Amino acid sequence: MYLKPFRYERAATLAEAAEALRSHEGGARLIAGGQSLMPMMNLGLVEVDAVVDISRVEEARGAAEDDGYLRIGALTRHRELERDDLVREQQPLLAAAARNVGSARVRNRGTLGGSLAHSDPAAELPLAMTALGATYEVTNGRETRSVPVEEFHVTYFTTSLGEDEVLSSVRVPKLGPGWGWGFVEVSRRRGDFAIVAAAALVRLGGGEIVESRVVLGGVSERPLRLGGMESSLTGARADDISQRVGEIDGIEPMTDTSATGEYRRHLSRVLAIRAVAHACARAEEAA
Ligand code: FAD
Repeated sequence: MYLKPFRYERAATLAEAAEALRSHEGGARLIAGGQSLMPMMNLGLVEVDAVVDISRVEEARGAAEDDGYLRIGALTRHRELERDDLVREQQPLLAAAARNVGSARVRNRGTLGGSLAHSDPAAELPLAMTALGATYEVTNGRETRSVPVEEFHVTYFTTSLGEDEVLSSVRVPKLGPGWGWGFVEVSRRRGDFAIVAAAALVRLGGGEIVESRVVLGGVSERPLRLGGMESSLTGARADDISQRVGEIDGIEPMTDTSATGEYRRHLSRVLAIRAVAHACARAEEAA
C-alpha cells in the first residue's frame, strides 16, 4: 500500500501536541512508538493529514509514587514498564502484562499511552488496567480530566478521548497486604496478540477469598470484568475454585483466523480459573 502524503510535526510537550491536534481539526493523529499507528496507516485503515510525534516528550515517562498509588507516564515504553523496579515491586501484575506485549523490538518502541489509546480488545495493558481499576489522566493542554478505565475503553479500537486530548498518565493502586495477582494468556506464538488473556487480583483472609477482580481480554469489544465469577469466588478456598466457578456467561467470543468462538469460550473459563489460582498462590506466599 502507498501511504497518502501527510505532514510530520514534532511536539516537545503534551500541551503542544494537543494544540497541534486542535489546529488540524480532527485530521491529525499522535504518534508515540508507531507500533500500531504505522501498520494501520500502511494497511490503509487510517488516513491522516498530519502526524504529531510525541515520542521525545520527556514529561510523561516513567513510574513514580503518588499518594499511595503509582503514577505512570503515558510515554513509558513497554520495556521500561516491564523492567521498572517500582512497578515490579508495587504492582507486579502490570510488569507481567507489559512482558506479554509483542516482541522485545516492539516493546522497546511501543508506549503505555499508545497501547491504551489504540484500545485493541485483545491487548494486555487495557486488560491489566481494567483489573486494577486504573484512572487515566487526559489533557488538552488547557485542562486535565481523570477518566476511570471503564469510561475510557468504549468499544473496539474506540476510546472516550476528545479530538484534541492526549493521554498523559495512568494512576493504579499498589498491590496491598493479603492480595495476590495472576496474569495468563494463550497466543499462537510468543509475542502474538492473545487469543484469550485473563487477569486476576485476589485478597485472602483466613485462607478464603475475601475480594477478587477477574477480567478477560480478547473475548469482547473491550476488557470484560467477570462480576458473576467474582461473586461465586467469595468465601472459596484456593483448592475449590474450579468447583465454585460455572460456565462464563455473557460472552459471545468471535471466530477469526486465530480461533473459533467456541475455543475462546472454553479458554475463557480455563484461563480465568488459572489466573485466580495463581493469584491465590501468590497471596498465600506473601502472607
Ligand atoms: P502508536 O502506534 O504510536 O499509537 C497508537 C494509537 O494511539 C494511535 O491512534 C495514536 O494516535 C494514539 N496515541 C499514542 N499515544 C497517545 C497518547 N499519549 N494519548 C493519546 N493517543 C495516543 N499489542 C499488544 O497489546 N499485544 C501484543 O501482543 C502486540 N503484538 C504486536 C506485535 C507486532 C509485530 C506489532 C507491530 C505490534 C504489536 N502490538 C501488540 C501493538 C503495539 O505493541 C501497541 O499497540 C503499541 O505498542 C502501542 O504503542 P505505540 O506507542 O507504538 O502507539
